[in-house]
Amino acid sequence: MPETPAFPAERTAVLTGAASARGIGRATADLLASQGWSVAVLDIDGDAAAEAARDIAARHGVPTLGLRTDVSDETSVHEAVARVEAELPAIVALVNCAGISSPTDFMDETRETWDRVFAINMTGTFLVTQRILAGMIERKLGRVVSISSISAQRGGGTYSKSAYSASKAAIIGFTRAVAREMGEHGITVNCIAPGPVDTDIMGGTLTEERKAGMAEDILVGRVGTVRDMAALLAFLVSEDAGYITAATYDINGGLQIS
Ligand code: NAD
Repeated sequence: MPETPAFPAERTAVLTGAASARGIGRATADLLASQGWSVAVLDIDGDAAAEAARDIAARHGVPTLGLRTDVSDETSVHEAVARVEAELPAIVALVNCAGISSPTDFMDETRETWDRVFAINMTGTFLVTQRILAGMIERKLGRVVSISSISAQRGGGTYSKSAYSASKAAIIGFTRAVAREMGEHGITVNCIAPGPVDTDIMGGTLTEERKAGMAEDILVGRVGTVRDMAALLAFLVSEDAGYITAATYDINGGLQIS
């Protein structure tokens, strides 16, 4: 029976969409760095990615890189991952956080924005995952986690309508299919499905008043935080999570059953 190999002491986590100081990816990058991971932040906002990498390196004393990367652009993805491979220790974890919302009502949705949402949320996840898996397969070790959403189950909300919900449902099928092929290579592939978290992607719609209203439908009585999400993501990429694959983890304080 294959044993999960021990993680190397020097190892890198690549996080897409981790530049925003208030985001899930950034909180996860911070937590992983505090656990000794080197961290690469790949984000369309290159200045913010560089700033995030500098800040994380200063606070946790680990090697970091922050690179402007458009996950929907194959060349951009390949160039960024090549730099991470050249400049940081072996990539053991990938956290696919890059995403955009789709606040448009279905009958007003356009082909252009529909395609854009899928290009970033789903095709971007495909491009980055496939590129990084090449190295993981060689080393026979890896953890991949992507971000679906409660919108995939409940059909979205104010700021996450049909294109977003459909793209996040696609992440679940993608995760299961890729996990099926990666088990034999020592690589686990999972996703998480968060409930609402107050980050920039919500476009300021999660006001304190709205959060208080939502909390009434959430079993634990509050809206989630980026730290809640980071804790689960960090566990799923840890050495201890080697028996978890093809899973979708609901993380919404119990909102899905209310
Ligand atoms: P966020 O806006 O802070 O993070 C999204 C990041 O993706 C940003 O840093 C943005 O610059 C980056 N990005 C956008 N387009 C990109 C591209 N083409 N290439 C590279 N990077 C790009 O919001 P967040 O809430 O931290 O979102 C992280 C993930 O969590 C997203 O996939 C989102 O859909 C998902 N999610 C969020 C919530 C929530 O309520 N906040 C709920 C469920 C799922």
